[in-house]
Amino acid sequence: LSVPDFVGFGDEVRALFEDARDYRGGEVATYIPQLARVDPEHYALGLCTVDGQRLSLGDDRQSYCVQSTCKPINYALARDLFGREKVHAHVGREPSGRSFNELTLNPLGLPHNPMINAGAIMCASLIRPEAPLADRFDFVMQKWRDLGGGEPAAFDNAVYLSEKATADRNFALAYFMRENNAFPDDTDLAETLDFYFQCCSITVNVQQMSVVAATLANGGICPVTSRRVLKAETVKDCLSLMYSCGMYDFSGEFAFAVGMPAKSGVSGALMLVVPGVCGFAVWSPRLDRCGNSVRGVQFAQTLVRKFAFHSYANM
Ligand code: GLU
Repeated sequence: LSVPDFVGFGDEVRALFEDARDYRGGEVATYIPQLARVDPEHYALGLCTVDGQRLSLGDDRQSYCVQSTCKPINYALARDLFGREKVHAHVGREPSGRSFNELTLNPLGLPHNPMINAGAIMCASLIRPEAPLADRFDFVMQKWRDLGGGEPAAFDNAVYLSEKATADRNFALAYFMRENNAFPDDTDLAETLDFYFQCCSITVNVQQMSVVAATLANGGICPVTSRRVLKAETVKDCLSLMYSCGMYDFSGEFAFAVGMPAKSGVSGALMLVVPGVCGFAVWSPRLDRCGNSVRGVQFAQTLVRKFAFHSYANM
């Protein structure tokens, strides 16, 4: 077993989860009313090991929208379909050092990486571009289901509609990329943006998201169903990008101090991957100045003080 004393481990995780509950700093995202209205006290954690041992705490049945945690998934789906060379002809793999929605491209005129908005819009354009939008969305929903152990993901239409209604920056990013010929030929810009907003508006709970994280920790094989969902090479590259770029403008500090691949989203979602061991999902809506869940970051920082999960812990 990847975690031999799972009961003991669960007790420690529960204690760290409860300690982080006291961190009530930060603010919920307010750029759309649907996120501003979420109860800031929501708090949940999911854990799944690579051999399928599971634990969940707090509001573990409550759904929340995945927001930017869809970015690694969309990258992985594009990669599984098109491979490394083709995907990275359209998106870089360098941290941008700039905010997630900044109007900036790399010296080649491409988005810096798939974990910021421009790069995520680009990856959305690479997911089954030949298919009708409805089929593309079905495909992504099915993948979330497969990654998450078989429970269907859901969709928050109100979040989608308000994302779409307040999307000037994302439109600007897409036009800027088109001006630079960054997209594959025949990309429908409006449809690509619509698809990206839909992906951000998918909802899951921490139980599902922890299995998604565990599937990544397990090289692409879902620990609950034992089915391969993503290619191993795809997962390796996805985790590398999560490690270097997954936590907004805190990514370098997070890699330094916590040392594990992670991705956060403005809903307060956080996915943490301990390669070869387990995946965690934390959800707590209050965000710090970088846009990361306050309790999520606190939990991750204390977790690596207790357990040797930092990539370079065993030096
Ligand atoms: N839907 C958000 C946007 O595109 C995602 C932001 C996020 O979670 O970082 O602005």
